[in-house]
Order: sequence, then C-alpha cells, then structure tokens
Amino acid sequence: DATEVTVGSEAGSAGGTVFGGTEFVVIAGPCAVESTTQMSAAADAVVAAGAVMLRGGAFKPRTSPYSFQGLGLAGLALLAEQRKRTGLPVVTEVVTPSDVESVAEESDMLQIGTRNMQNFDLLRAVGASGRPVLLKRGMSATIEEWLLAAEYLMHMGTRDVVLCERGIRSFDPSTRFTLDLSAVAEAKRLTHLPVIVDPSHSTGRPHLVAPMSLAAAACGADGLIIDVHTDAGHAMCDGAQALGAEQFSTLMGRLRPVVEAVGRTL
Ligand code: PEP
Repeated sequence: DATEVTVGSEAGSAGGTVFGGTEFVVIAGPCAVESTTQMSAAADAVVAAGAVMLRGGAFKPRTSPYSFQGLGLAGLALLAEQRKRTGLPVVTEVVTPSDVESVAEESDMLQIGTRNMQNFDLLRAVGASGRPVLLKRGMSATIEEWLLAAEYLMHMGTRDVVLCERGIRSFDPSTRFTLDLSAVAEAKRLTHLPVIVDPSHSTGRPHLVAPMSLAAAACGADGLIIDVHTDAGHAMCDGAQALGAEQFSTLMGRLRPVVEAVGRTL
C-alpha cells in the first residue's frame, strides 16, 4: 500500500508537509544557497506563490572542480535561517557521510543527488540519520537500481523515503537530460513510496519546466522540486534552468486545474 511521508513537523509549519497524500507537494528555491539576501528573496517568492517547502544546496556536487562548490556549512546556516524565518521545512543535499549529522540538524529532509545514488556509505549514513530522505534517480540508473538504493536507506531503519525522477542520460543535447515520466508511473506501481519530479535539472531549460511540471502532475507524481531564483542571470549555479518569481507564480496557477483533475490539492 502507498505510504505517506511527513516532513518538517517540527519546522514550525502546522503538521509538516505530507508526500503521497492528497496534497501535490511543490518544493521550490534556488539550486545553491548564495547569501541571506538571495535566500530571503527566493523564500518570499516561493511562499507567495504557494510552495510548501524550500530547497537550496549548501554542498554542491559539481561536474567541474572549477565551478562554485557551494558555501558548505555556512550555506547550511543561511538555509536554516530561512527555515526559522518562514516556518517552511527545508530540503538540502548531503554529499559526505561525515556531514550527515550537521545537515540533519539544520534541515528537515536530506537529499541524495543523482551523482551519489549508488554511494552506499552515504546511503547507509543517511538511512541511519532518522531524517526523511529525497532520493534522486541516478542519471544512468535503471528503475531497479534506483529502488535498490532506496532499499539501502530503508534497511538502515528509515521508512521516510521519497523518490525523485530527475532525468536520465540520452543522446540528445537539446535538453540537459531526458525526463523519464514513465519511470514515475512505474516506480509508483512497483513501490509504496511517493515519487516526485525535478523538471529543472532534467530539462535544463526554463521554458520546458512548465510543460513538464503539468505532465508530471497529470501522470500521477506526488509533487515537484523546482529551481527558482529571483535574479537568475547572476545565479552561481544552474541559473540557466531557474524560473523567476513571476514565472513560478504563473506555473503554480496553471498547475492547479491539472492537480485538481487528478483528484489532488495544491
Ligand atoms: C540539485 O537538486 O541541486 C541537484 C544537484 O540535482 P541532481 O542531483 O538531480 O543533479
């Protein structure tokens, strides 16, 4: 039977965010935490548009060692500041087993990124942390490998795992990755876990975020995680795929009828 995963019941939000229930959960925020000003602006924009959780990476696993690697613990503190200020639960990525405890203290949900889906030591440490987990699909992982990675987490004692389809590698550079929506329906058929979609990292193109978000809602996803930056032109990470405040608000308006058509609420 499908399981609900509750996140952030102690973050200040009434009862926390429930994945896999009637609500279609929208998480939004910048790819990387950069500064207090940037995080406040992003948090205000996503709350105003109706997002129920805030995202933001403090530890960024970048393809190039010369790209911005994230603010690390200082970024975590900036995210925690917004968590306190807004009452929104926060999700952030952890990349090293030795950082799991600090990240778990400052956030409501730990994210395992695509590049670490089969980092088994990290999975074990995160699974033992007691925090809910957002498990991104490895960009070249089969559905079976993705679900076995979730088993690593659950084997360590956590029941609160949310899967995230974020695009897989294919041959066509027209989109950054290929969003595999069939994997959403298939993962939901094969497991009891909630499944959400990342239309930002999968497409890498802001104009594709809205159509893929609507399609994700229509195909039974339990929610979305979307990059939003109020000054995307100056973003330190993945600005090219972020939505601005107005674009995000417009998308939320367009999502509502689709979400309601599949019997859920936004
Ligand atoms: C992210 O969500 O910040 C991220 C880096 O995603 P992915 O691991 O899917 O690339």
